[in-house]
Amino acid sequence: MVRTIELNKRQEHILQIVKENGPITGEAIADRLSLTRATLRPDLAILTMAGYLDARPRVGYFYTGKTGTQLLTENLKKIYVKDFQSIPVVVSENVSVYDAICTMFLEDVGTLFVVDGKSHLVGVLSRKDLLRASIGKQELTSLPVNIIMTRMPNITVCEKDDLLIDVAKDLIDKQIDAVPVVKQLETGEVEVVGRITKTNITKAFVSLAEEDI
Ligand code: ADP
Repeated sequence: MVRTIELNKRQEHILQIVKENGPITGEAIADRLSLTRATLRPDLAILTMAGYLDARPRVGYFYTGKTGTQLLTENLKKIYVKDFQSIPVVVSENVSVYDAICTMFLEDVGTLFVVDGKSHLVGVLSRKDLLRASIGKQELTSLPVNIIMTRMPNITVCEKDDLLIDVAKDLIDKQIDAVPVVKQLETGEVEVVGRITKTNITKAFVSLAEEDI
């Protein structure tokens, strides 16, 4: 079931009452609508969680005056990488370009992350990296990916507690399609634990419109 943040008639009515009379108690709002406090509770919860109303104990509800754009910005800043990250697809730095192409097709992803023998991130392979290698004269089965990959430390990464909006800005600024979600190790090396792609960002964007509030 998809619930949208569009308000229903009763919620609009409650907003109007609070706008004109706030701060006002739940009891008083219920009286004005000739409803019980219990009937009203879910609507008040929705309006409060969505940021339209604020509730103060023993004072009541008041109108926050926030616009849709302000609320959208606030909600955007509550979406973290960990809420939308996907499982990363990794290959070893020793595999051939041919095998990397097969992995990309089989796993149905556009970016592969390359790891060393200790599973530490060492590189990134995009579709175009593999296409470029394929139009050369090299033998793809004997060309290791570490010759053609983009390598550390030139890799843009993110962590699970980063804001998704900051990763979106990185994708635009650096003109890339994906970033690995990493865990920094004490040794200075990094482990790949996830991936964020343009698809994950698009899903987050859609979820804002279908917010389950
Ligand atoms: P494509 O090249 O298929 O359009 P991208 O735009 O993601 O895909 O990649 C562009 C270039 O940037 C490629 O050479 C790729 O290796 C590199 N690249 C991709 N992701 C990253 C990243 N997270 N950090 C640094 N470089 C990256």
